[in-house]
Amino acid sequence: MHRHLRSLCCLVVLALAVGFGSSQTKPLRVLAFYSTHVEQDHVDFAMQAISFYQAMAERDHFEFNATSNWDDLNPAVLKDYQVVLWLDEFPSSAAQRKAFEDFMEHGGAWMGFHVAGWMESRATWPWFADFLGTMFSGNSWPPLPATLIVDDSNHPATKGLPARFVSPDNEWYSWQPSPRKNPNIKVLMTLAPSNYPLGFKDTLGGGDIPVTWTNTKYKMIYTNMGHGGKILDSATQNRFFENALLWLGGRD
Ligand code: ZN
Repeated sequence: MHRHLRSLCCLVVLALAVGFGSSQTKPLRVLAFYSTHVEQDHVDFAMQAISFYQAMAERDHFEFNATSNWDDLNPAVLKDYQVVLWLDEFPSSAAQRKAFEDFMEHGGAWMGFHVAGWMESRATWPWFADFLGTMFSGNSWPPLPATLIVDDSNHPATKGLPARFVSPDNEWYSWQPSPRKNPNIKVLMTLAPSNYPLGFKDTLGGGDIPVTWTNTKYKMIYTNMGHGGKILDSATQNRFFENALLWLGGRD
């Protein structure tokens, strides 16, 4: 029994040593939060995103875990991770929110997808409104593809992307005010004017509608993509999803 334990310990130490040796840095660990009790299109995206990032983790040698238990958003769990993803959901309790604030205020990294940036009113969570840099204002319906302008293809998250590309079917959100008006926000992608009017039942009529940005006070990226099962069908857009995670994990 003891011998087995000792061999197991040796294996773990060896595995850690190999991990350190290959990356020269602390092994990257990413934790994705999702929910199965939300709109089906949001569950579908979360499931596909988990498969997508699991495959990427194997290729790029980092650890990727996913949980639908939002109480895992606590200091004891978060201390083992450098990057947290919110796949189409957000925390609902004061304790979960506080743990996330502390994580982000102390060097943690975050990427939020689609409804992760939704909030009914600023009063729900003022810290998050400042962190996101804007507030949800409206949405398009049904899900449609849209042409996106890449505002800055020199940023590590958008490196190698063309100046514009067609993003697959998504429910698109508008924001008030435009995140671009916030001095802490750097916009990475924006809906091209040629999309408008975007939607049939619910329509985005025009204006400046960024879809992906970073708050430069934090290591974070919000992206509006994430509704339904087609989001990961674009190799171009997938490059962004990969780049963004590598940048957040300090691997760019
Ligand atoms: Zn949606």
